[in-house]
Amino acid sequence: MKSLAVLHASQLVTLGGPKRPRVGTEMRELAIIRDGGMLIRDGKIRSVAPSDQIEKNANNAEIIDAEGRIALPGFVDAHTHLVFAGNRLEDFERRARGESYEQIAKAGGGIWSTVEKTRAASDADLLKRAKIHADWFLKCGTTTVEAKSGYGLTLEGELKILCVMRQLNEKTSLEIVPTFLGAHAVPREMDADQYIELVIEEMLPRIASEKLAEFCDVFCERGYFDVEQSRRILTAARQLGLKLRIHADQLTNSGGAQLAAELKATTADHLEKTDGQGIAAMKSAGVQPVLLPGSVYALGLPDYPRAREMVAAGLAIVIATDFNPGSSPTPSMTMILSLACTQMKLSPAEAITAGTINAAYSLNRGSKIGSLEPGKFANFSIFNCEDYRELAYWFGIPQTHSVYVRGERVG
Ligand SMILES: [Zn+2]
Repeated sequence: MKSLAVLHASQLVTLGGPKRPRVGTEMRELAIIRDGGMLIRDGKIRSVAPSDQIEKNANNAEIIDAEGRIALPGFVDAHTHLVFAGNRLEDFERRARGESYEQIAKAGGGIWSTVEKTRAASDADLLKRAKIHADWFLKCGTTTVEAKSGYGLTLEGELKILCVMRQLNEKTSLEIVPTFLGAHAVPREMDADQYIELVIEEMLPRIASEKLAEFCDVFCERGYFDVEQSRRILTAARQLGLKLRIHADQLTNSGGAQLAAELKATTADHLEKTDGQGIAAMKSAGVQPVLLPGSVYALGLPDYPRAREMVAAGLAIVIATDFNPGSSPTPSMTMILSLACTQMKLSPAEAITAGTINAAYSLNRGSKIGSLEPGKFANFSIFNCEDYRELAYWFGIPQTHSVYVRGERVG
């Protein structure tokens, strides 16, 4: 039995509270213990309390002295596209020159360029690259990520990405929750109906039978998959036992939030263009919004999602990086905290709740991670600051001191 005692955290930000996602004013309650400590045994949290109490019960435990820094649950990043080959530097530079999305796609950029590079990459190369990405996440204090396929767009290509995720889970301390996003775009070699048939008849049954994904996602957007097409794919996925997430209302208010509500999806993600009706629909169906300010920022777009209205409506909001090579090349949840506070007007406490406990519930892991409470995995980070608000306040500077997964130091 390995025991650890964390002592002298200026703020032990526990997020202890009700065993469900936090809504409304609950999002501001972080359940902070000043000069806090934590006893850990066999990778799980045994107790959290003021430091002097923990010290009394520490016995032979190895001591981790936080020396007046803050300690927080590991971030849970509930929306990433972790596995891909190459980058989109050309797109980035073209966008800086003021070129439009259409111009960039015409010049050979856009999602299709990542699909081509990912299809051409070997399993070993993809795994090597994904391992580098996983290390970035850990370095930023993130200990669990959701990861989507979607750069293969063939049966073999999608299976390759999901198998790389499975191998990566064995090679890294970062926990990866796999999502099948075959319906990310229609591949150039076929029309939409042919491709949807391939997704429903071949990809989904194979992925479900090999248990390669926990969730199914669809890019529901004009020019990608409309509401009716998205409904067909997601309904088929649900019948095979997969839970649902949807890329909804990112570029146009196209009914994605309503569809998420109708299908009782676990999450609706993006929501930059979602209106009051969409918010009400998500509320009545218990859908969690996953907001991705990093992509609004990196694309230089004007509209952030209506986060304050969503909190006021009682939605259990989540924030995530949307890590991907095209529209949000950041693994940093502290950057997302900064954007959440400055651009979406969340308070620092609300943003932290959205990036930890609420995110954990959106991945079906609320009883295991996302807060520092007895019985949960000892996934936590120590940061080089004294007040949790500093995480969102200082930006562009890494503040991570050390990162632990199940009681083991990993960064
Ligand atoms: Zn995405």
